[in-house]
Amino acid sequence: MRILVVSDIHANLAALDAVIQDAGHFDRIWCLGDVIGYGPEPNECIKLLRAFDLVCLAGNHDLAVVDKLSLGEFSPDARDAIYWTRDRLTATNADWLEALPSMIVVAEHGITLAHGSARDPIWEYVATPELAGASLDSIDTPIGLNGHTHVQIIYRQPTYGLGIVKEQPTVNLPISLTLDRLLINPGSVGQPRDDDVRAAYALIDLEAMTVTLQRVQYDISTTQKLMKQARLPDRLIRRLRFGE
Ligand code: ZN
Repeated sequence: MRILVVSDIHANLAALDAVIQDAGHFDRIWCLGDVIGYGPEPNECIKLLRAFDLVCLAGNHDLAVVDKLSLGEFSPDARDAIYWTRDRLTATNADWLEALPSMIVVAEHGITLAHGSARDPIWEYVATPELAGASLDSIDTPIGLNGHTHVQIIYRQPTYGLGIVKEQPTVNLPISLTLDRLLINPGSVGQPRDDDVRAAYALIDLEAMTVTLQRVQYDISTTQKLMKQARLPDRLIRRLRFGE
């Protein structure tokens, strides 16, 4: 079974479309949260995701938009986008977001899914090897998947070694899921922040037990034009061009 792993789509339909096309054949989508927020097409992104066999977690933006999380920790631009999204979200989609779980353990394959981290599924940014180690320590499976930082990265904890190694993945190169413990972030579909403007995602092959990290170009100007029309904050529109 092939799994398309996506995270932090942030209502960027052009980017999500490009990822789905580029991924080719897959059987199921695992989405690590933040389907909405920042971007101009929240309902369209939810609709497209739900057309597939889907496992989806709640991210901080998903919970904030349905009032399950305080807006106090969000930047002013993020907050503006959440208010904008709240006004446009259909009742059905709001109900769907509200019901999303915050963590899932796929026990038969030894993989734990969280948006932030297993320690704090909603808010923790796993941005250092130390935090990755703590996150791996808090799960019972060899492999962890998380999103939230918008940075495509792998943290490796070698079976016969101490410490955690931060690994910049080579795209299109399958990595074994059975050698070492790994904490894998597929990166962000709709708002990459790792100096690469391309949409990021991962493919997991559950027969071969490998993960492959991928990037794909999408039409950034389409998303930016819709954001302008929607009068979403300027900085959010500009940052898509810089991958920051
Ligand atoms: Zn996010």
